[in-house]
This record gives sequence, C-alpha cells and structure tokens, in this order.
Amino acid sequence: FCTQTKIFHSLRLPVPLPHLSQPLSITDYVLSLIPATVSTTTFLVDSATDRRLSYSLFLHQVQTLASSLQLLTPLSKGHVAFILSPASFDIPVLYFSLLSLGVTISPANPLGSESEVAHQVGLSKPVIAFATSSTAHKIPKLQFGTILIDSPQFLSMINGTGGIDNRGVVRVEVSQSDSAVILYSSGTTGRVKGVLLTHRNLIALIAGIYHQQHAYDLDGNHSDSVSLFILPLFHVFGFFMLIQAVSMGETLVLMERFDFQAMLRAVEKYKVTDMPVSPPLIVALAKSELVHKYDLSSLQFLGCGGAPLGKEVAESFSAKYPKVEIVQGYGLTESGGAAARTLGPEESKQHGSVGRLAENMEAKIVDPSTGEALPPGQRGELWLRGPTIMKGYVGNDKATAETLDSEGWLKTGDLCYFDSDGCLYIVDRLKELIKYKAYQVPPAELEHLLQTNPEIADAAVIPYPDEYAGEIPMAYVVRKTGSNITAAQIIDFVAKQVAPYKKIRQVDFISSIPKSPAGKILRRELVSHALSSRSSK
Ligand code: AMP
Repeated sequence: FCTQTKIFHSLRLPVPLPHLSQPLSITDYVLSLIPATVSTTTFLVDSATDRRLSYSLFLHQVQTLASSLQLLTPLSKGHVAFILSPASFDIPVLYFSLLSLGVTISPANPLGSESEVAHQVGLSKPVIAFATSSTAHKIPKLQFGTILIDSPQFLSMINGTGGIDNRGVVRVEVSQSDSAVILYSSGTTGRVKGVLLTHRNLIALIAGIYHQQHAYDLDGNHSDSVSLFILPLFHVFGFFMLIQAVSMGETLVLMERFDFQAMLRAVEKYKVTDMPVSPPLIVALAKSELVHKYDLSSLQFLGCGGAPLGKEVAESFSAKYPKVEIVQGYGLTESGGAAARTLGPEESKQHGSVGRLAENMEAKIVDPSTGEALPPGQRGELWLRGPTIMKGYVGNDKATAETLDSEGWLKTGDLCYFDSDGCLYIVDRLKELIKYKAYQVPPAELEHLLQTNPEIADAAVIPYPDEYAGEIPMAYVVRKTGSNITAAQIIDFVAKQVAPYKKIRQVDFISSIPKSPAGKILRRELVSHALSSRSSK
C-alpha cells in the first residue's frame, strides 16, 4: 500500500480509461454505458407532481434540445452557459444536452444573492444563462441573454416543435481535454473560485465507479435501483451522483424543495433503495421519531459525503437501521468528486473512516510544517493525484499554482491519516472553509462583508461546532470606538446580503482579532476561545 516514496496507491483494481486522443464527451460516454434494457425504465420522477420520464424519452429530449440550441441560439463549442435553477425536472436534460455540444456548463446555487451571482459570472464569463422566473433577475445581462427553463419556449425546445426534432442535431466533436463544467469553491483560502473540470475528469470519475460497481457486483441490477435526490445538482456531490445514476440506468426521484416528512413519504411511495445525503440528514434520521410513521424498509444504501460524519452518529444510525449501509465518500469540488469511498459492507462498518482511495488515485500525507511525506498512522495534509483532479481555477493562475503543484498534486487542506489497511481518516480541516450542512461558507467572504459595515473595525469568521448543521459560521467582531452595534444587528446586516446558508448565526465581541506577524487571522486560537467559552457556560 505504501511505497518507499511514501506515495499511497489505490488498492482498487485499476480502471482502464478511453485513449485520450479519442474524441469523447461525457454525454457520449455516459450514454454508451446505459444498459440497453432500460429504454422503457423510468429515468426521472418529480416527487411533487409524480410526473415521469422514461430513459428513451430522456435520450430523445437530450438530442432534441441540442438540435434546438443549435438552430435557435448562437451557442457553440467552447462557450460557457451559466445555470441558476433549483433541481428541477429539466435540469438533467439541459446538462447532458449542453455537454454534448461542447458547451461548458456552470451551475450555481439558486439561493445565491445578486452580488454572489455577479462574482460567479465574473469568474466563468458565460455568454448565456439558463434560469427560472424566480432566479433570472439575479443574472447580469449576458451576450446571448437568459433562457427561462420554466417557460413554454424552453419546453418546446426540449420536446421539439416547428420542424425541430432529434434528427436535426449536428454532431460536435468534443475532445476529452475540453472544459466540461465550472463549479464554485473557495478552495483552501479566500473568496469563491471557479473550479474547471474537463470531460476527461468526468469520464475518469464515472469509469471508476462504473467498473467498481460491476467488478464487485455490489448491489446487483442497478436498473432496479431507485435513488431519491434531495441534493442540490449544482454542487459537485449532486452533480456527480446525477451523472453516475444515469450511467447505471437507475430511476431518479427528484425533490426540488427539501422537506423531511415529504422525503420520508417519497421513500415509502417510490420504494427508494438509495439516497445520496450529507451528514445532517443521517443525524435527522437517527434522531427523528417521525420515521416510525413510514415504511422505509426499501432503503438499502445511503451515500454520505460532503462533510464529516461523526462516528457516534453513524453508530446510532446503524443501530436503528441495521439493514441500511452507509457508503461514505470523501472528496472536494477540486477532486471532481469522491477521491475515497467505502466499498462493500465490511468497509462501511469501519465507522470513522471515509474508506479507501478511489480507483486510479494516489495520495500523500504531508507534514504541513516540513513538507515531508509521512507513513501510515501519521497525520498530515492530504495531497491527491489522479485523472479526476481539476484542471485549475478559471482565470486564476495564482490560486491554481498554490493548490496544484507542478507534479499534479492537489493540496486538499484537510488533515488526515491512513491506517495500515489503507483506510483514510479525516481528522480536521486545515483550510479556512466552514461547512454548514455540507454547503461551503468561505469565511473570507463574510469577513470582507463585515468590514464594509461602518461600525465594525475588524472581524473574523470561524466554524462553530453544531450537532445538526455540523458547523455554523460564527463572527468575532471588534466594534469601532463609540459603536454599540449589537449581535442581532450584525447577523441581520450579513443575512441581507448572502444566501441563507451563509448567514452568521453567532456573534461575540472581542478587543482585537489575533493575527500572525504576517497579518493572517489566527483562526485556531479563536476556535479554541469559542469552545472554551462554550464549556464554561
Ligand atoms: P466541497 O468542495 O464543497 O465538496 O468541500 C470539500 C471539503 O468538504 C473537503 O475538503 C473536506 O473538508 C469536506 N469533506 C467532504 N467530504 C467529507 C467527508 N466524507 N468527511 C469529512 N470531510 C469531508
């Protein structure tokens, strides 16, 4: 597992990838994997309306929309399309269709504020946007405008009218090295950046999981699997799970608006077998009494990732639902998806570990102070290398060079160790990032906002542990002389300008923010301060 050079190699069977010179979009790759037998299988169900779409109609719509886009818009290969929408029924068709044309898609959080969206648009430089009537107003004017995906115009583009059908599409040659998607992440420090993943990155991800599932024959026939999607489709986790589910021919039940009881009802109604979730949902399922009102016996797998899952939570969940396997995954937007996963019931029972390195992946555990690579059992920063690792941050060579070294190692900013069996443990986060229910909250962004308040002299934002959300953003604030600004006023000031999940939920006042001689906020000191004041309360 560990070589002399202290590079950890994946213990999974290596997965062959298509030759890089072969033109291949992620759409064509995924479509080539879908089992031929699924054409009449339901691909998508809208849990709110029970509307359904079969695989054959889905494939038809992907091509019809591509043809409509070619005829009705000036979009072409290399352009970027911004997408601002909840996880609605037509999103999968839109993603696969744009990707087949070589258009780079950039989905963003529909709850983002106008200034957050403007920042993202400034990074990815889209020529067109796809939005809904409730999100479109946040998007600045773009060269080819904004298409409303909840409009009759878009429906006719998908279904084909006025002589447009799926036969009209002109094939576009897409290279694997072409850009496929720009997702948003703050990385290890600073403001939100655009993470560029290529078709090759996505192909490698899907190839890995597809071959793994088939090689180990994990859960038999996937076209019998019914996955309930409560995840957002703009975040790497939901994005990747969507592509994966299509490649396996699974039925997907989409839930546009999350509601715990509606989710339980959907599990019962659709006999859901699989659910990708973030840790807060496992906490909720472990604690809720409501679950006893529903028949959840169809559930077999919960794919859990995006944030740390406490060992005790996993154990109490497993005691309550002994037949449900928690498949843990660890990854970053920058690693294109899961870089480590548990595989099979034995690994899943290893609570506390996020599993072993994914196929074709390599890792190093690096001592943050000396840069030395460490052996199993020792803690250090996890570095990852492999075919799924991002190309870089769009238009930000400096941040790219700080995160990806010249040998292709991605510095994750996570403090980790491997045990001698190759199981990976995430111990802590070295980077600035706060994860509120697995959503990214970049402290630098909130600090910047706080500093624009005329009554605030200085501020620092840190993660504060929370049983349900994992972490909540907490601000330490230095008031300007003479100011009496209150915690509630500060919380309100920020809440008006950011997406709801980024709200500051706790404030404490301090006389000065501890900083290093170089001016870096000493966040760990503040976290210890917050924890010791909590325990003394
Ligand atoms: P994102 O790019 O939003 O997926 O955030 C990536 C970060 O989330 C990682 O660098 C970790 O800090 C954290 N993370 C993701 N998955 C896990 C996991 N299974 N356990 C612990 N932390 C995780």
